[in-house]
Amino acid sequence: MMMEPPSPRPLDDADRTIWDWQFSVPGFGERGQEHLKGASVMVSRVGGLGGIVAYELAAAGVGRLVLAHAGDVKPSDLNRQLLMTHDAIGTSRLACAVHRLKELNPRLDVLAVEENVSDANVAGLVAEADVVVDCAPLFVERFAMNREAIRQGKPLVECAMYELQGQVTTVLPGTTPCLACLYPEPPPAWKREFPVFGAVSGAIGCIGAMEAIKLLSGLGEPLAGRMLSIDLRDVRTQEIQIHRRPGCPVCAEA
Ligand SMILES: [Zn+2]
Repeated sequence: MMMEPPSPRPLDDADRTIWDWQFSVPGFGERGQEHLKGASVMVSRVGGLGGIVAYELAAAGVGRLVLAHAGDVKPSDLNRQLLMTHDAIGTSRLACAVHRLKELNPRLDVLAVEENVSDANVAGLVAEADVVVDCAPLFVERFAMNREAIRQGKPLVECAMYELQGQVTTVLPGTTPCLACLYPEPPPAWKREFPVFGAVSGAIGCIGAMEAIKLLSGLGEPLAGRMLSIDLRDVRTQEIQIHRRPGCPVCAEA
């Protein structure tokens, strides 16, 4: 079951000029653009994955982004966090990201929260969004986001990467498996710092952004109940059917 698209916001002439190339996509049209303009998307972290998600959503004309990310730009961010710049090293990651997003799309409305997702802020962040895209590297953040998205009935796009691999699935509360169905516990080997190329986070982030665009506009079929797994080392893709876990403490009642 797809979500109800967000309330459309009428386009003006400048909108039509900017997003003209998307209107002719079958199943999208000006109506799809109106839904994107009326939409609010929460992106958890704007690093390697989330920065690309935010950039693509800003390019596509999503009206509002809710962005949460703490900390300052470090030199080691720059191989993959493409919203960050060398000049911004030592200054706020989020401020740098918002500046770059607005350079691309000055019409974008941004709610920027200089915190990572936690139990304390997650309810307020999810409440601001029609769709959530989770790109956080830590399972404690991902589990908090998953719980809250299920509780509020908000679709959640899960994007993950490691080395040359990436995975994407879309959680529709009450319909598909949730993150806790797939991972009852955090994987024991998971570390905060992991090997990755920016081109891998870019590829996975673009797929995640497209999932959000589809959910918001009713275009196509989301990766619901399916996980797309890509290994760019030999460029093999796999589509894995995933199932709800009976008695899942997060989504069994949803
Ligand atoms: Zn579940």
